[in-house]
Amino acid sequence: MSEHDHDHEHDEEPTEAEARAEAERLVRKEIALSQIRQYGDPVLRMRAGEVEVFDDELVRITERMFQLMRDADGIGLAATQVGILRRFVVCTLDGEDYVLVNPVVSPVGEGTEVDEEGCLSLGAVRVPVERATRVRVEAKDVQGASQSLELKDMAARVIQHELDHLDGVLLVDRTDAESRREALSLLRPRLVLTS
Ligand SMILES: [Zn+2]
Repeated sequence: MSEHDHDHEHDEEPTEAEARAEAERLVRKEIALSQIRQYGDPVLRMRAGEVEVFDDELVRITERMFQLMRDADGIGLAATQVGILRRFVVCTLDGEDYVLVNPVVSPVGEGTEVDEEGCLSLGAVRVPVERATRVRVEAKDVQGASQSLELKDMAARVIQHELDHLDGVLLVDRTDAESRREALSLLRPRLVLTS
């Protein structure tokens, strides 16, 4: 899931060093996004299988995914989005990093809320999506130990979004008809006319 764009409000002109750091950040973001599967890639529509082996390879991949997620200004990234059809995600929930393997998410109570979401696989698309406001998550960590979390609000939204990726479900499937139409028109490859 993508982070809201930050508001950069400065009273003064950025220094040369600040401008250079910002330019480098944008390059890192572009590179990260180029390594994340984008809308139209059939992998994003496939259901991922359970993780059965907890080995160094899994640790290495999740470390790489955290790096991609941060570089791309994201707060969650599912294995599906890097072309791995296994059920694990990395995310930052309430300021803490988690690897959630084989996650099972169930709503707690009846409460739902509609809010805008973006996705690292859907470019500039932001659409309203209804999610449960409280959920319980049962998952393994990267070593295979059981973890149980109770999440609410933004953190609950992030894990529901990432779990959808493991089932091949995208934001455009979850939003209202009008928002879907607008999103799809943004996502449709542009025709380039050359003479
Ligand atoms: Zn996403």
